[in-house]
Amino acid sequence: MTEKIGVLGEKSARRIGVERVVNAPLPTVHGKFQAIGYVDHDRGDEQVALVHGDIGAERVLVRLHSECLTGDAFGSQHCECGDQLAAALRAVVAEGSGVVVYLRGHEGRGIGLLAKLRAMALQAEGLDTVEANLALGLPVDARDYGAAAGMLHDLGVRSVRLMSNNPRKREALVRHGIEVSEQVPLLIPPCESNITYLRTKRERLDHHLPHLDAVAHLS
Ligand SMILES: [Zn+2]
Repeated sequence: MTEKIGVLGEKSARRIGVERVVNAPLPTVHGKFQAIGYVDHDRGDEQVALVHGDIGAERVLVRLHSECLTGDAFGSQHCECGDQLAAALRAVVAEGSGVVVYLRGHEGRGIGLLAKLRAMALQAEGLDTVEANLALGLPVDARDYGAAAGMLHDLGVRSVRLMSNNPRKREALVRHGIEVSEQVPLLIPPCESNITYLRTKRERLDHHLPHLDAVAHLS
């Protein structure tokens, strides 16, 4: 492959934003997807969007899923990420079309895997998820959604029905030029292990989690 150098020299040849590099069929337990791989030239991350069906451009059912190794792969009950990912994949298949953008580099709301584990250790000692990040000298939420918007633009998506309880995801997409026509709740029944974490998300991070009212009996 030959590198193309722009007429203005090397600097103008620097690629910006996300670039689609591969499209592979991905059959899953939830249904069939196309795994569309991107390189994020701004941050150096490798990213993937799972696309199901013929998505069109308007009111596309979309989940922006922040990577969570412990939740997504290990079934951690500290958070509800694994269940949210499965629910989102099931929802787009049930809908007949949609996109799950899986955002790497988003561990622990962007602080990284090991820092997230440190924050989890502090939470086991009684700090909440916000206090734990701050105690480590780290931001409460460092996630960036520019790459997610770039992938959606590349897929021809103009407006989305966003499966999320997090108002910041909606705001970030709008800021990056993707219209959010609707916010679709993705409510996972809480368990004893994650109820405190979920309440913190609702009370301190403004997540819309109305179903927590029904589980006052959980400690
Ligand atoms: Zn998680």
